Amino acid sequence: MSSNGLLALERRVTADLAMIAYPDSEWVPPRTGPDGARVLDALVVGGGQGGLAVAHGLTRGRVTNIRIVDQAEPGQEGPWLTYARMPTLRSPKEVNGPDLDIPSLTFQAWFEAQHGTTGWETLNKIAREDWAAYLLWLRRVLDLSVENGVALERLEPGEGDLIYATLRHLAENRVETVHARKLVLATGIEASGRWWTPPVVEALDRRFWAHTSEAIDFAALAGKRVAALGAGASAFDNAATALEAGAGEVAIYCRRRDLQRVQPFKWLSFPGFLGHFADLDDVWRWRFMAYLLTMREAFPKETWQRASRHPNFRLETGAGWQRCEVVGDRVRLHTPKGVFEADYLIIGTGFDIDLSHRPELAGVAEHVALWADRFAPPAEEANERLSRYPYLGPTYEFLERNPGTAPWLRHLRLFTYGTTVSFGPSGASINAMKFAAPRLVGGILRDLFREDIESHWNSLKSYDLPEFLLPGEEGAAAPPKAVLDRLADGRFG
Ligand SMILES: Cc1cc2nc3c(=O)[nH]c(=O)nc-3n(C[C@H](O)[C@H](O)[C@H](O)COP(=O)(O)OP(=O)(O)OC[C@H]3O[C@@H](n4cnc5c(N)ncnc54)[C@H](O)[C@@H]3O)c2cc1C
Repeated sequence: MSSNGLLALERRVTADLAMIAYPDSEWVPPRTGPDGARVLDALVVGGGQGGLAVAHGLTRGRVTNIRIVDQAEPGQEGPWLTYARMPTLRSPKEVNGPDLDIPSLTFQAWFEAQHGTTGWETLNKIAREDWAAYLLWLRRVLDLSVENGVALERLEPGEGDLIYATLRHLAENRVETVHARKLVLATGIEASGRWWTPPVVEALDRRFWAHTSEAIDFAALAGKRVAALGAGASAFDNAATALEAGAGEVAIYCRRRDLQRVQPFKWLSFPGFLGHFADLDDVWRWRFMAYLLTMREAFPKETWQRASRHPNFRLETGAGWQRCEVVGDRVRLHTPKGVFEADYLIIGTGFDIDLSHRPELAGVAEHVALWADRFAPPAEEANERLSRYPYLGPTYEFLERNPGTAPWLRHLRLFTYGTTVSFGPSGASINAMKFAAPRLVGGILRDLFREDIESHWNSLKSYDLPEFLLPGEEGAAAPPKAVLDRLADGRFG
């Protein structure tokens, strides 16, 4: 590990940012809110990778009167150090995102500064602890100040075209209200809905089960029979964690007959798709996303190897849980393949998109246009799950379900997995961030400019800063003789 390497890199970052700083003037006219305080130009909710990328873009666009809030403790933003239970990221190490294409800000630059180019060449995938540390570094070198322990609780239309946000400072249990012109919800992968647990499990006593998004006492599972539900990476990572903690037996159950082993999201990782999916018409967007989201994503081979190398690991495909019942200290699982028993259940069934589940969106969700409101797919492509995704405007803004009833929605932008049907991979996704964040930020910059156009017009008309002074004007230095001669000849017109 080389801290000198990191210091040198930080000098490179400073130089790089200086070289692309033009034009560097602040340009958004300050506004005062009804409470007499300066209105925020943007409030970014969520200080994970998505919120950082957006804030990075805004400050590059010289919109600096912003705040970034996150309800998590410092360093605990996102899943990386809490419930993510894989040793490494699932993405390839080359993925770059919140750096917004500045080479010295990439993960590779950060890693090489400490471990050298050989370290990078021999690295297989990015350790999740490294990714979390890198995000903290990025926010320090970009001077993005995240206010931790601050939760967005409520959003309402404010006076004029302002958004009125209620924030709670969790440590002091203090409420603060702020006015913002624009607000970005970069609140996480599940934050357009909720983590989902099948009703047959939800009805069980909580001492028998946990969702993969929760804290789990794996040590307490030593010697136990564990049943995990789900065919995705999270079910496998949690199963592997239980096995590594000494579980007696771990079985994964899923409805599918075959595991998904192809990664369609690898196929779509090209600039045309990632950058311009949102420019397709609704028919194509729906068709692609209905296909991709039904197929879902395969997990990487490392995930499979990590679980399957244990002799006490079992996979039961075609074995969704139809009924679960507690019998003594065990849970009996009824599946199309027969009846099984387990001491503890881990539920890896992901999340469900439904804005109405979000407390912070109470009063907002009912006004938001969903795909169900705007698009009727052909019968053979009908998909109830997709129809609940928000139907977003071209720069991630919410649109009104009934035009004219909630025009303030256009000031709210979503940057979570809920963007997927409208934009393809975008919010809550590393691989699309370099395309997605600039598009969202561009929308905010455009709107801030347009909405202040009269002020800019007046500013232009009163702009009277001469580039040079004529002889005799106050403060003018005597021009060189050659200039005076030409003035005398009338050669300057
Ligand atoms: C287990 C797991 C593994 C993943 N692995 C990969 C991977 O390998 N590669 C990949 O490309 N993607 C991966 N993803 C997907 C995605 O990259 C991550 O979910 C990533 O964390 C998304 O970043 P984000 O900034 O959108 O959300 P997050 O990192 O979740 O950040 C959102 C932040 O918003 C805060 N917040 C939420 N609500 C509020 C509120 N009301 N007020 C204030 N703050 C709030 C949260 O505290 C959180 O810190 C993974 C996801 C999970 C769940």
